Amino acid sequence: MSGATEVTTCRSCGGDRPRPFLSLGSTPVANRLVRADALDAVDPTFPLGVGFCERCALVQLTHVLPADEIFDADYPYFSSFSDMLVRHSEKNVVELIESLGLGPDSLVVEVASNDGYLLKAFVERGIPVLGIEPTPGPAAAAREVGVPTREEFFGAEVARRLVDEGLRADVIIANNVMAHVPDLNSFVEGFSILLKDEGVISVENPGVGALLDHTEFDTIYHEHFCYFSTIAVDALLRRHGLELVGVTEFPELHGGTLRWRAGRAGAAGRPDPSVARVLAAERAAGLDSFDRYGSFGAEVGALQDELRTLLSGLKAKGATIAAYAAAAKGATLLNSTGIDTRLVDFVVDRNTHKQGRYMPGARLPILAPEALLDRQPDYLLLLAWNVKNEIMAQQAEYAARGGSFIVPVPRPVIL
Ligand SMILES: [Zn+2]
Repeated sequence: MSGATEVTTCRSCGGDRPRPFLSLGSTPVANRLVRADALDAVDPTFPLGVGFCERCALVQLTHVLPADEIFDADYPYFSSFSDMLVRHSEKNVVELIESLGLGPDSLVVEVASNDGYLLKAFVERGIPVLGIEPTPGPAAAAREVGVPTREEFFGAEVARRLVDEGLRADVIIANNVMAHVPDLNSFVEGFSILLKDEGVISVENPGVGALLDHTEFDTIYHEHFCYFSTIAVDALLRRHGLELVGVTEFPELHGGTLRWRAGRAGAAGRPDPSVARVLAAERAAGLDSFDRYGSFGAEVGALQDELRTLLSGLKAKGATIAAYAAAAKGATLLNSTGIDTRLVDFVVDRNTHKQGRYMPGARLPILAPEALLDRQPDYLLLLAWNVKNEIMAQQAEYAARGGSFIVPVPRPVIL
């Protein structure tokens, strides 16, 4: 096993070492769920912290792991998407088709296309697509539903090869992938190579402004190298001859998502007024200077103290506590806050691939959601607070029988 490497230059602009502003201690890889036969082994831990580049404003991990530590054979297969995400994606598809007049001669490329659920919506409307997805399980599932998919990590090399094959994209979609990309510049250069002159790039990612405002520290984990503001994305795009043409905010999605639309600089029409508006709002919020980030560590520490006190107090009164969703953010929250089986008995998750395993570090057993009604714990800690409304609706029966929900972020509350 190889260790973590300290980041010494900015992943985007190549500037000096990003200035650290938050350490979450040393934690296991968040998605590496523990098998029952490996419970005797100790989970390897790695430093988890973030810093701010004072040159291009990109927030990024202070330490990174070798790729094989993150993408090992046990990397969970994410097949289930929330209803909210499906609705959100379909709306995006319709918008892109209508605004760009896409048709049978167009090409839509999606990077990290997963099981093809988004591209399938273009296929159904007669628009050619190509998915690029590095994980074999989802790539195979996508082909099965008629979405041509290449099993690769996207970057400049792949883009050049596609162009050599005569392919150019009218639209390139990259949702919730940019934070996972080790070579950010090759990734965005790939966009620039593959995009038609009048083409549009549509990138979505949770924004770092919402992360700060709502104390979403648990969205920080080793698999997420970067945490983006529009300011940082703007600098990154410009370096590769691209420019922002529109920004849309989705406050309810993944704790606060931004959609950046971009095109070739000077060729994609005038930027929408949203670009200047969001850039100005981010500067007003201080996202371009260290001061705003400097106070975040104390805010996180206060939330963690409050949550530990709340759970310990309930436990001391004899209450039983379970958790919902064996998500990566749950692993960060549990491990960096010191919450384990002494406070929380088990976690439930709808993903059958996760059931029967254990959360890394905290070692909570992962059970099917039916365990909630079987055991009726007094409290349910919502580790997937970003979809709390959906979970609470699904677990109406648990609540009707007297169960209560604890939402940890942005401040611990009992509902
Ligand atoms: Zn930088």
